[in-house]
Amino acid sequence: MRLSNLKLKNFRNYHETKLEFSPNINVLIGENAQGKTNLLESIYVLAMTKSHRTTNDRELIEFSEKSAFLEGIVEKKTGNLRLSLSLSKKGKTARVNSLETPRLSQYIGKLNVILFSPEDLSLVKGSPAVRRRFIDMEFGQIDAVYLYELTRYRTILRDRNVYLKQLQTKQSTDRVYLEVLTEQLAKSGAKIILKRLEFLEELENYAKILHADITQQKENLTFKYKCTASIDDLEMNQDAIEIRLKETFETIVDKEIFQGTTLIGPHRDDVSFKVNGKNVQTYGSQGQQRTTALAVKLAEIDLMRAKTGEYPVLLLDDVLSELDGERQTHLLKAIQDKVQTFLTTPGLNDIARQLIKQPRLFRINAGK
Ligand code: ATP
Ligand code: MG
Repeated sequence: MRLSNLKLKNFRNYHETKLEFSPNINVLIGENAQGKTNLLESIYVLAMTKSHRTTNDRELIEFSEKSAFLEGIVEKKTGNLRLSLSLSKKGKTARVNSLETPRLSQYIGKLNVILFSPEDLSLVKGSPAVRRRFIDMEFGQIDAVYLYELTRYRTILRDRNVYLKQLQTKQSTDRVYLEVLTEQLAKSGAKIILKRLEFLEELENYAKILHADITQQKENLTFKYKCTASIDDLEMNQDAIEIRLKETFETIVDKEIFQGTTLIGPHRDDVSFKVNGKNVQTYGSQGQQRTTALAVKLAEIDLMRAKTGEYPVLLLDDVLSELDGERQTHLLKAIQDKVQTFLTTPGLNDIARQLIKQPRLFRINAGK
């Protein structure tokens, strides 16, 4: 899929902008603080309805303005879509072809994006929350049911945590209601875990090939889902996972009440990446960690393509400068002629000049 046009109004430092993009590589060049990342962010927000760098939508609205508006034309094999998003202090409204979508989960996924920024190199090294977020953002885009379930899970989790706090402080003593919430949480959690396992297996297959390629077949990348309710010995089906979650909850209920919070479930799970059987997070060199992050990110492109039938749009924020020559070459070759890409940079280096064919250049200066 391609984003052919973009209109921004009062988004960050873009007061009013209309742009037409190349279906191939778009290079956003400019000095610091001119609005390169803001422009990538706007595409991300148009796709995901929220930013990758803030949870506060107000920050996205231009200083001293009350609302922001984003609109884009997405070209797909199945036809063109006009996506728009209005942000105001009261909330947000998403529209597909001018029709409002009551639930954001019906909107997300119409434009698929993959964002790669220097922080993504911490996918391997960073906290489990970084990896969970990665999984949820990417899988949520390709599977609306996953996204829906995730929202449901979070609601039940919030209720359960509130109730655990009440039990902790003895505002309440009735454990039957806790059981009801536990039952709901285990059911929803099992659905999420099963989908994660399925998607991760596919993602692993793609990442393995890319990783072997980058390391000249010297290293073997594998993934492992680390479930807080150990499910390693189980046959992978939803019922078995649900039962295991419930069993685990039974053994820790007193501890959960004591701490006033839910201690196990997908919101605490993690995934680890191993190279030649050793955890890259703990044992890998910085270079190995970067290669792993790059392979995983590139694998997402293949996974999205397999799941949706179209390549996603790739947003690369200042990543070339973070990768050595060989990794830059791999990245640029992987996207060449296939994936519409938006790339921000203070300036193109020789490798990029050689490998990027006919880029469309956008020179960005103070939001213009
Ligand atoms: P760098 O090369 O340093 O990453 P950049 O071109 O990516 O720079 P951006 O992050 O896109 O820079 O833009 C930063 C600028 O946007 C800052 O000058 C900041 O003041 C401005 N900015 C951020 N939010 C808003 C907003 N809500 N309204 C107006 N301007 C904003
Ligand atoms: Mg930037």
